[in-house]
Amino acid sequence: MAGLIQMIFPILDNHIHLRPDGRGVGAIADFEKAGGTHAILVHSPHPSSIITKPDDFRESYDITLHLADSINASRKVKVFVATGPYPILLLGLIDRYGLKKGVELMKSGMDIAQQLVLEGRAVAIGEIGRPHFPVSEIIWEASNELLLYGMELANEASCPVILHTESGTPDIMKELAEMADRAGLSRDRVIKHYSSPLVFPNENYGIVPSILSSRDAVRTALSKGDRFLMETDFLDDPLRPGAVMNINTVPKRTKAFIDSGIMSEEAAWRIHKDMPEKIYDININI
Ligand SMILES: [Zn+2]
Repeated sequence: MAGLIQMIFPILDNHIHLRPDGRGVGAIADFEKAGGTHAILVHSPHPSSIITKPDDFRESYDITLHLADSINASRKVKVFVATGPYPILLLGLIDRYGLKKGVELMKSGMDIAQQLVLEGRAVAIGEIGRPHFPVSEIIWEASNELLLYGMELANEASCPVILHTESGTPDIMKELAEMADRAGLSRDRVIKHYSSPLVFPNENYGIVPSILSSRDAVRTALSKGDRFLMETDFLDDPLRPGAVMNINTVPKRTKAFIDSGIMSEEAAWRIHKDMPEKIYDININI
């Protein structure tokens, strides 16, 4: 029956990056062509922006916000922005300025990100978190302090945080969920980016997994339930095109899985509309 009735679904990629020196709006055109309708555009440090003072975060975030503006003005795809100090930045800042000032600068990056949410220019604080590789005890502790701070700011602003951390295991999800509790932030406003299919409640402890959308991962996720988001972590790196995943992956996978009956229509609406609307407090309309 597929093809006889063209169902129109919203299709949201929950984690993409775009770079001014990458394909930018052109990548979004590919996403749209594949059936994508919405995306969360997550800030990552632009190679041209060096952080030496709080205002440098503002300038760096502005590059991402402007990219979003030009997409929203020129394409049917609607993008929503998340900004925050990328966790790995802390390492360079500590090298250059020492621990105390490094942490202070990162906190100022969080403050500005919160302000953008309060101004309605961004929908989340992220990606924030801690390095995905082993670091010294001092850096680990500082990262956790910053993560807690970011969660507190998100709670104040009634917005979600998007987490970049080491690979999630149920134990790590539990630790992050308890950290959210300490910050007063609802666990369903904590999004674990680059997640494996930890869909069962005793795997994610209430945190929302944003699943890197390989065929196997999405299939496994769907076999467990439909409380998750889908992402590519598209990097738009001109030197590594297609790394981590191609921009058309989420629409392609979603449509193929609906066609083959692996994803029910109900699950598609939940993943691509109901969940993101609730988590980000946004409207997904097509
Ligand atoms: Zn990312």
